[in-house]
Amino acid sequence: MEQVKIPGKNEVVPITIEDIGADGEGIGKVHGFTLFVKDAVVGDELLVKVMKTKKTYGYARIEQIVTPSPYRVNPRCEIASKCGGCQIQQLSYEEQLRYKQNKVLNCLKRIGGIENPPMEPIVGMENPYYYRNKAQFPVGKRTDGEVVIGFYAGRTHSIIDTAKCHIGDESTEPLIACIRNFLKQENISIYDEESHQGLVRHILLRVGFTTKELMICVVINGKELPASDKLIKQILACPNLPKDFRVTSICLNKNTKKTNVILGEEIIPLYGPTYITDYIGDIKYQISPLSFYQVNPVQTKKLYELALDYTDLTGNELVWDLYCGIGTISLFLAQKAKMVYGVEIIPQAIEDAKSNAKLNDINNAEFFVGAAEEVLPKQYQLSGGKIYADVIVVDPPRKGCDESLLETIVAMEPKRIVYVSCDPATLARDLKYLIEHGYDLKKVRPVDQFPHSVHVESVTLLTRRNEL
Ligand code: SAH
Repeated sequence: MEQVKIPGKNEVVPITIEDIGADGEGIGKVHGFTLFVKDAVVGDELLVKVMKTKKTYGYARIEQIVTPSPYRVNPRCEIASKCGGCQIQQLSYEEQLRYKQNKVLNCLKRIGGIENPPMEPIVGMENPYYYRNKAQFPVGKRTDGEVVIGFYAGRTHSIIDTAKCHIGDESTEPLIACIRNFLKQENISIYDEESHQGLVRHILLRVGFTTKELMICVVINGKELPASDKLIKQILACPNLPKDFRVTSICLNKNTKKTNVILGEEIIPLYGPTYITDYIGDIKYQISPLSFYQVNPVQTKKLYELALDYTDLTGNELVWDLYCGIGTISLFLAQKAKMVYGVEIIPQAIEDAKSNAKLNDINNAEFFVGAAEEVLPKQYQLSGGKIYADVIVVDPPRKGCDESLLETIVAMEPKRIVYVSCDPATLARDLKYLIEHGYDLKKVRPVDQFPHSVHVESVTLLTRRNEL
């Protein structure tokens, strides 16, 4: 065996990239020592500079691409390597999809202990650009006093001064240009994270892809924006917006806390309602600055249709939709179910869910505020084990489901469980539990909600074993 030799800091060494890590970085070996290389692609032959070493691995940066991998493409975005938004723009989209498919497969095998997972092919995008319906821009000041609006550089709070984003929406650049002019013209004070002084912190933009409605929300460390009437006028006259798009909502969000959390709780209207409207399929949703709403509407429709397909509803079923957000999946399923019960921890989201049900004349959906792992076991106990579900859908955040929730789900014996997941590792852990407690894993289908990032969603179907 080759003797492992730890390279020195700043040493430049040749390397061939053999694997891809959880954060999209390339992985290769030099004299048996593993190096993680940012922006490297499997198959690249590189010269890399060693930045930092630990006992068994280290980090390096590309100095020179000696022979590029056949999977390497030129990122469309000039700041792809600096920006914290995307991680794998340099990988061809086809390879990105293969990577994500394998990521899910490997988690199911390794963490879930599932030998031969019933994987369906990943659902990719036809055009994996300009897909996001939401953007949050930090606002800051350069040392020379110039206003900067843009994106955080990876893992830092230094702002790259640009609104050009190839995964964002095409209306963002002209709108940010307008807001930038206004801030300069009126000499509006800009928030400083260190001193907690200054007014404007962030700009949040949302767009309804189907309605072409645009929202602008200015996050401020205070309760008033000086000259806001001028801002409204300038935004409404904003040139170069894509055809038919129009600003229908302008508001402020008050965030006076010293925190990294972008939004505060209070919304102050400036122009129009404090929400925009959008459709997923036939269902209409009102989206406020604080609402959780999936950021890729094209893929969300495919994700929900897949979830609906896996539920196999005929119109007679009782369905629980846990972690329901603003009721997006619940209302989608209510079209085909007898009754849907949604559970979500954020009260405002449940308010939105209820008003979205009304907005669509949907009367067979009911919503509960609370933690899924508390609400469901409690309801189950209160009913003396009588509440019933034909189908349970879960769509938890990255940390997955609490075991106490899985326990109740198993006790309720639904015929089908549909698990929508944004983290294959916790999905695999939870599937292991469900498989060990009476469920068969039928299908797992990844969906690419976030092209050019390392994130992957998936929809999974489990059925109850003794039903067969
Ligand atoms: N199904 C929705 C939202 C999914 S995101 C959609 O597709 O839009 C996950 C949601 O779970 C978020 O809305 C979050 O607020 C909520 N959540 C987080 N922890 C929770 C818990 N313990 N119980 C219930 N909901 C929770």
